[in-house]
Amino acid sequence: MDEGLSGGCLCGTVRYTATPKPESAYYCHCRDCQVGSASAFTVAIYSDEKSFQLTSGELATYSKVADSGRNLNRMFCPQCGTPLAWTGDGFPGTILISLSSLDDPEAFSPVHEGWTASAVSWCRVHDSVKSFPGRPEREF
Ligand SMILES: [Zn+2]
Ligand SMILES: [Zn+2]
Repeated sequence: MDEGLSGGCLCGTVRYTATPKPESAYYCHCRDCQVGSASAFTVAIYSDEKSFQLTSGELATYSKVADSGRNLNRMFCPQCGTPLAWTGDGFPGTILISLSSLDDPEAFSPVHEGWTASAVSWCRVHDSVKSFPGRPEREF
């Protein structure tokens, strides 16, 4: 049985294990991720929702309709506010995890980027990733 990878938030209250899917990590340039991550984009990786297990703490959730027009649940540590995971109506059974929150953020590399229509001009990602102006196609 694959025990997966571990990760957690800034303050250490929330810890999790998950089994992210290789070749599924991507940069999200949507406005909500820019604001919600306090950065130019979020880097997320897909994981089977059943593989995501909290090993300590609880997640707080903020739900909002995303640029896709579907509801997205943004989950974060209620103590320190670190964004950790996302679920949504557009991808049932799947959870997106913040790649940066893995204990080993080098475990995977993003292979595509989505919502580049709202990407900021002052921050570009690597040319080797496949770009989508809207929702990235899932190729895994
Ligand atoms: Zn925390
Ligand atoms: Zn986004």
